[in-house]
Amino acid sequence: MSLKENVICTFCGCLCDDINVEVENEGITNLKRACANGRSKILGYDENRVESPQIRKNGELTKVSLEEAVEKTAEILKESKFPLIYGLSSTETDAQKLAVELAEVIGATIDNTASVCHGPTILGIQNSGAPECTLGEVKNRADLIIFWGCNPAEAHTRHPTRYSVIPEGMFVKGRKDREVINVDVRETNTSKMSDTFIRVEPGKDYELLSALRASVKGHDIGDVAGVSSDTIKELTEKMKGCKFGVIYFGLGLSLSLGMHMNVLAALELVRDLNDYTKFSINPMRGHFNVTGANKVMTWLTGYPFAVNFSRGYPIYGPGEFTALDVLRRGECDSALIIASDPIAHFPAQASKHLEKIPTIVIDPKVNATTSVADVVIPSAIAGIECGGIAYRMDGIPLELKPFIESDVSSDKEILAKIIEKAKE
Ligand code: SF4
Repeated sequence: MSLKENVICTFCGCLCDDINVEVENEGITNLKRACANGRSKILGYDENRVESPQIRKNGELTKVSLEEAVEKTAEILKESKFPLIYGLSSTETDAQKLAVELAEVIGATIDNTASVCHGPTILGIQNSGAPECTLGEVKNRADLIIFWGCNPAEAHTRHPTRYSVIPEGMFVKGRKDREVINVDVRETNTSKMSDTFIRVEPGKDYELLSALRASVKGHDIGDVAGVSSDTIKELTEKMKGCKFGVIYFGLGLSLSLGMHMNVLAALELVRDLNDYTKFSINPMRGHFNVTGANKVMTWLTGYPFAVNFSRGYPIYGPGEFTALDVLRRGECDSALIIASDPIAHFPAQASKHLEKIPTIVIDPKVNATTSVADVVIPSAIAGIECGGIAYRMDGIPLELKPFIESDVSSDKEILAKIIEKAKE
């Protein structure tokens, strides 16, 4: 038996780096500190795996060698006029880098899953900048935590216990020193662990944020978005009076009516609050390395998602080159999906187009998209079977520590082979 200490859980954007795993005969015998979501990913790593490279022949997925699958992939992508590369948020940064290189080689459109989650957040940040901070700063200093349109008690379970609500920090002595406020359209388990729950009417986040901005500047504009004038004033006083406040927000803000304008209003509220105290704002990122996907694409192309290389240089086009839109309009004539399952998540119109065109999937697991793919290539699970770098939700890069030996190729190795073939 070997004990692997302080490995990183690669389920959500918290990237908890204190997980202990006991491994015996390549199986996990004990797992400590992971939450239910992390446990399910780590303990279920060998379930439902893609067993070998496959190509669809006469309508059936047929086992082939990795070389044959790679050759077929390169052939499909090279013959396409408008290939799409999509996914990338559940793999490590070297693979993300090679996916961008491949997009440039074949003149593809490349997009990551941020376009269907915090894409509007990125657009909001591009408009006004964002006073973000690290999870460590929050743990050590924050005395006012606002969870807006997110439910960390269920989606990022250890966020409250490791960083934002419970832990003792250098200048904050645990839960009793923190005020926790939850703003959402309905009560959740996050409301239950908060001191105050503020119910906002669905689709009215922008109005409430704007009312708070007015209130911070001393104006009372009455009841807004189902929230009383007194509650708005009380929240304003708490925000202006704290030592270090932070808003964590989720898709309840970025994907509800108003989208990037909601995020922009929240960012501007936080900017205004910094005239009175220290205040930060951070998105709750879902997939473990979606932050890395945005960072890597930005280093290499200048843009975080929705990039088109058809002219040989990167063109940014949210709404135009976002995978969902490209698929819904039926524009792409092939697709390479890496570490993602769009058929399970995209609307029917987009999924139907994916079913019609040659689709290649690189993924460790059998999923809805592998079931319609023409080429399926199994890969090692980043953080469990292969290493690399992932970016935590606060932009901190962490080195993954694989703990299971595997002879399955990593996304990085597979993409390097595809690039080599595509260049021939
Ligand atoms: S909070 Fe996220 S990263 Fe941490 S153990 Fe749970 S699933 Fe894993």
